[in-house]
Amino acid sequence: MTPPCIIIGASHAGAQLALSLRQQGWQDEILVISNEDALPYQRPPLSKTFLSGEKNTDQILIRPMAAFEKAQVDFLFNTQVININRQDNALELDNGQSLAYSKLALCTGSSAIKIPLPGHDKKGVHYLRTQQDAINIRQHAAADKHAVIIGGGFIGLESAAILCKMGMKVSVLEAQDRLLKRVVCENISNFYEKTHQQAGVSIHTNTQAASINGEERVNSVIDKIGKEYKADLVIIGVGVHPNVQLAQDCGLDIDNGIVINGFAQTRDADIVAAGDATFFHHDFYRKNMRLESIQNAMDQAKSAAASLCGKSLGFSHIIPRFWSDQYDFKLQIIGISDGFDKIEIRGNINEGKSFSVFYLKENKLICAAMVNAPRVLMKAQACITQQSVLSSQALDELFEQSPVL
Ligand SMILES: Cc1cc2nc3c(=O)[nH]c(=O)nc-3n(C[C@H](O)[C@H](O)[C@H](O)COP(=O)(O)OP(=O)(O)OC[C@H]3O[C@@H](n4cnc5c(N)ncnc54)[C@H](O)[C@@H]3O)c2cc1C
Repeated sequence: MTPPCIIIGASHAGAQLALSLRQQGWQDEILVISNEDALPYQRPPLSKTFLSGEKNTDQILIRPMAAFEKAQVDFLFNTQVININRQDNALELDNGQSLAYSKLALCTGSSAIKIPLPGHDKKGVHYLRTQQDAINIRQHAAADKHAVIIGGGFIGLESAAILCKMGMKVSVLEAQDRLLKRVVCENISNFYEKTHQQAGVSIHTNTQAASINGEERVNSVIDKIGKEYKADLVIIGVGVHPNVQLAQDCGLDIDNGIVINGFAQTRDADIVAAGDATFFHHDFYRKNMRLESIQNAMDQAKSAAASLCGKSLGFSHIIPRFWSDQYDFKLQIIGISDGFDKIEIRGNINEGKSFSVFYLKENKLICAAMVNAPRVLMKAQACITQQSVLSSQALDELFEQSPVL
């Protein structure tokens, strides 16, 4: 009997890859191995509607069990793959079992970066990557209690917005001189700083946490200059690192992620990879990158499934997309802003009802960020792809012809 195609990791990339394999005509068994104990669930709600309690575990499933049963996808939960033997096409599992594969897909994703602050292991200190993390945070969130968020990136700020809405007294400590510095321009950082402050969150930039205090449970965070912030709950959100150990140990190419080509193939003909764990060359931006987004995980998974079925479906030309929900504001980003030489803003960024920030290079659009302006997205995507020179009037039209929410 032909050994199954094995997918390591049951999240956005793994789930999509399994279903796409069947759609692409894969005939043999498909087995997904996960070190988590749940059916594939969506991670974005973990810092949004799941954290707030608006959605429950069933409502954040990527697909119901019936969809996987119909596609004849099997799962092995609570199981960690600890070694890949590429000579024999076999995997070693943490339960001592060995499994043969015909083809292998690495969808191992990324993990929260742990910072070894003194006191980081006290009760009440959390990272936010899994459903269980979000459940633990929610259990300890209570009105009028104090929360300290270490890290002013998307996950930290989305969590801050939810905890603030729950009535918690929230402080955000950000080491950089502005929020979201890695991903947005100063204008958008300022918009979010103002928005959070107006909601009652206290924002502290240029501030690095130095230690976490308390007996068994956390009661405060101290920063590098000795200032103390009351804390009944701490969330550390300082970024992720790709889970590459397995791939590295079996000799695949690694460079800030598992190196894949534009068809999600590694240099082993039997192994593909998709999602947060991968590193690839983007054809449009002409640079190597690793992306942490749902869209990327899904596109690469579809491409990987096609490759395993002997077809060609490239993903490396697709313009990346990201989004973030905070309070009543939906931020959507299309493109990568690195290397922009001009920014143009349309709409009302001060009142923040609806606005767009266009990042241009030599007067051509390379990236656009929209707040509550969803209809701009598709048009901006077309402008990025076409790379035509855009006048100021063309940008007015790009924004104004999109209805304001
Ligand atoms: C709180 C939160 C909010 C987010 N919000 C957004 C958002 O708004 N928009 C957006 O685009 N993206 C968002 N993201 C990012 C998005 O969730 C990731 O890009 C996406 O989950 C990547 O999917 P993946 O399948 O590549 O990896 P992951 O989701 O990281 O899944 C990998 C899985 O593989 C498992 N695994 C790893 N190694 C092994 C092994 N050896 N054996 C068995 N199993 C293994 C892991 O435990 C994990 O379950 C958010 C992420 C978080 C945590």
